[in-house]
Amino acid sequence: MAKSYDVVVVGAGPAGYVCAIRCAQLGFSTACVDDWINKQGKPALGGTCLNVGCIPSKELLESSHHFANIRDHGEHYGISSRSLEMDIPGLIRSKDETVAELTQGIEGLFRANKVEWLTGRGQLQADRQVLVTPHQGDAYHIQGDHVVLAPGSVPIEIGAAPLQGDIIVDNAGALNWETCPEHLGVIGAGVIGVEMSSVWRRLGAEVTILEAMDDFLHTVDQEIAQSALKSFQRQGLQIQLGARVTATRVKDDKQQSRVEIEYEDSDGKHSITVDRLIVSVGRRPNTDAIAADDVELTFDERGFIHVGDHCETSLPGVYAIGDCVRGPMLAHKGSEEGVMVAERLAGQASHIHYEAIPWVIYTHPEIAWVGQTEEELKHAGEPYRSGTFPFMASGRAKAMNDTDGLVKVLAHAETDRVLGVHMVGPLTSELIGQAVMAMEFEGSAEDIMRTVFAHPTLSEALHEAALAVDGRPLHIPPPRKKK
Ligand code: NAD
Repeated sequence: MAKSYDVVVVGAGPAGYVCAIRCAQLGFSTACVDDWINKQGKPALGGTCLNVGCIPSKELLESSHHFANIRDHGEHYGISSRSLEMDIPGLIRSKDETVAELTQGIEGLFRANKVEWLTGRGQLQADRQVLVTPHQGDAYHIQGDHVVLAPGSVPIEIGAAPLQGDIIVDNAGALNWETCPEHLGVIGAGVIGVEMSSVWRRLGAEVTILEAMDDFLHTVDQEIAQSALKSFQRQGLQIQLGARVTATRVKDDKQQSRVEIEYEDSDGKHSITVDRLIVSVGRRPNTDAIAADDVELTFDERGFIHVGDHCETSLPGVYAIGDCVRGPMLAHKGSEEGVMVAERLAGQASHIHYEAIPWVIYTHPEIAWVGQTEEELKHAGEPYRSGTFPFMASGRAKAMNDTDGLVKVLAHAETDRVLGVHMVGPLTSELIGQAVMAMEFEGSAEDIMRTVFAHPTLSEALHEAALAVDGRPLHIPPPRKKK
């Protein structure tokens, strides 16, 4: 007889492990099946986010920022940087320690909440059974009253640039180099492309990013994207837009292997040679073998599991959450879906306000936004008012020597309701939370105007951008009135 649980969660990334913990908190007997094997060859919880995604990349971004900031601006802070050096193997070690601590932290949370961790690959069978195939030993079945699928996503591979050793890598490979390439190539100027380029540029690499689209960060509000582009170009990132990679070749010479990249743009065909290459052209749902062939789970044409508003799949009692379903591939979106599903199983009326999910790109300056962009509002014909405030005029940003960027608030022209907030600048990953709350509470630009912000803080830039919606910022000249 298959062992039975109230809830079986397949996948222990931020969607699955959070769902499992919330289910257990609500009194459900819960098992979580996961097949991740970490760098040390051991099963580990946390999925892509903790093992090879959000967390390790943030450690490399943080450390490389401190290094480059002191190297390039130490004099401004009165710090001599004459003998500054980066110990890259040390950096990688410390990143690995952080990952180990956090993934073991989830093990502790599972123990404390009595979530049973089953290591191995989980596959949905008929009647909410799950087949668990461990890395060693025989496969076995478990039974769930409810099953939650959270298998995450995997990097998209393209025929033009097959991965090869530590020369042509995806995001995971780029987190483990122990030396800095002289010339790094990156395919795709998306979230991963610009984050990983920033790390290796700061550590000394010449970086060329080849991006197929003509617009930089085309889903980001373009005023913000253009400001970020200028900052990145000043930092020395070479970003070639409208450049589609068509082929790559690894050339072995006596000393080292190099990669020849062929690409096309509006001027024709070109080629460049780099020492290493990161392929960051997007991710796809990790759903290839998530259900047995005889299970009628519905997928869309791109392999995402089809779900309704509350993550219910086409099968009764089976739910899917996180990167494997519609919506942005963001850890916090998956986690909230996990909480929502657990609470709905317990009879609560939880829901997610998908319009108020924040995005952050952890470059320097950081890019963060929530809600609709100006381009989307124009396209939808929505009447809106806009207010912006540059960090150049923020006393706190000035004192931090960190004045690139701006905050932009978009509000409905008639109701004044906040429709979107877009930021590029210092610590906007933290500032955006205030805008998310304003939107979650269905706030207006006036609500933000009438809120008291501490001085001197970066948050004042949000206050001023909201004031600017009404044409009355205090610390920049008001926009000229049209005659
Ligand atoms: P992405 O979709 O953000 O960007 C991929 C880019 O590659 C696109 O701009 C695309 O036009 C370009 N591209 C595709 N094929 C190309 C080719 N042949 N030549 C040149 N350019 C090409 O994908 P990503 O950066 O790989 O990230 C994957 C996912 O991971 C994203 O959906 C993101 O949500 C998530 N992620 C989020 C964060 C964060 O929240 N900070 C960090 C990392 C990853």
